[in-house]
Amino acid sequence: MNYRIAVIKGDGIGPEIVTEAMGVIEAVGEKFGHTFQFVDVLLGGCATDAVGKSYPDGTAEKCKSCDAVLLGAVGGPKWGPDKPAEQRPETALLAIRKDLGLYANLRHATLRPALVDYSPLKRETAEKGIDIMMVRELIGGIYFGKRDRYETPDRGVECTDLMAYSEMEIERIGRRAFELARLRKKKLASVDKANVLETSRLWRSVMHRIAADYPDVELTDVLVDNCAMQLVRDPSQFDVIVTENMFGDILSDEASMVTGSLGMLPSASIGSEAPGLYEPIHGSAPDIAGQDKANPIATILSVAMMFKYSFQLPKEAAAIEAAVDKALADGWRTADIAKPGETAIGCKKMGEIICGNI
Ligand code: NAD
Repeated sequence: MNYRIAVIKGDGIGPEIVTEAMGVIEAVGEKFGHTFQFVDVLLGGCATDAVGKSYPDGTAEKCKSCDAVLLGAVGGPKWGPDKPAEQRPETALLAIRKDLGLYANLRHATLRPALVDYSPLKRETAEKGIDIMMVRELIGGIYFGKRDRYETPDRGVECTDLMAYSEMEIERIGRRAFELARLRKKKLASVDKANVLETSRLWRSVMHRIAADYPDVELTDVLVDNCAMQLVRDPSQFDVIVTENMFGDILSDEASMVTGSLGMLPSASIGSEAPGLYEPIHGSAPDIAGQDKANPIATILSVAMMFKYSFQLPKEAAAIEAAVDKALADGWRTADIAKPGETAIGCKKMGEIICGNI
């Protein structure tokens, strides 16, 4: 098969990690007999520098002409909050998600077997294993609601951010989560704040209604504050977690951190139609950019998700995951996951080793 992949290298360490991930894609192509065409797409701070805006005209159309989108990371101090919205990299990220209709963000928080000691949790907790698929609603809720800022006569400035959810938005993310749970341990935790928020009460009622269509999946309601506690007390209890945009933003970072390293975790953002967007969960790490110190594994595992979810090639995805686990089991470490006394290798070398394992 021939696949077209839109490649957004972005800012900071983006170009370094994406280059290694592209090497892995080529290696998979050689082993399994697929060919790939890479289409360069400019987005983020580098686009602001090149054409004056972070989300150049025609970006969405270019991505839509491909089967999947691979993104490194965008952002950096050069394009901070003092810049106009159209020059900020974050504006471009929100816009591409919305324009591609990417309503579901999947983050796979796993503790790789060779890295149990890297979790900040107690060893006996970490050893029980962490393998959570976090499903976050991505294009609704408070991040996309109406905002207002106005003067009051007696309380100074007042602001509002509206959190709105429709049954349609909840049902489509809910069904996606139930379907994912079916492919895993068939356990779904739906996270809300139904004791306080009206949007959460609607969320809960929709989840319970659609649960009838998935009798093989065990559905549990978890309040968001309790979920935050349970993720550090015993993350092994979770299989798939589904939640709205802002809760998911916060909880998915927490779920990631209990596994130990930001540089290890992939994500996929998918909609009803192709293309999905695949990116590491970390940012552009300007502090180590251009120094060959970045860990490319999160981006490489994002490519594994691309093979699984956009190309429906689970064998190829498993080959990538196995190549990463072998590199780690053989003791190879980038600086972010090296313990004191362990020799660290660079981004390029880690990429080469993983390609060699494939
Ligand atoms: P960050 O994830 O870029 O970095 C946090 C820390 O983790 C840094 O010390 C960094 O060196 C380290 N780190 C991150 N990824 C690493 C990797 N692959 N290998 C080794 N070490 C790694 O978060 P930040 O510093 O808060 O943000 C930096 C910039 O990235 C900001 O402009 C932010 O807006 C942007 N950002 C972009 C995305 C995205 O593109 N999706 C996501 C988060 C942050």
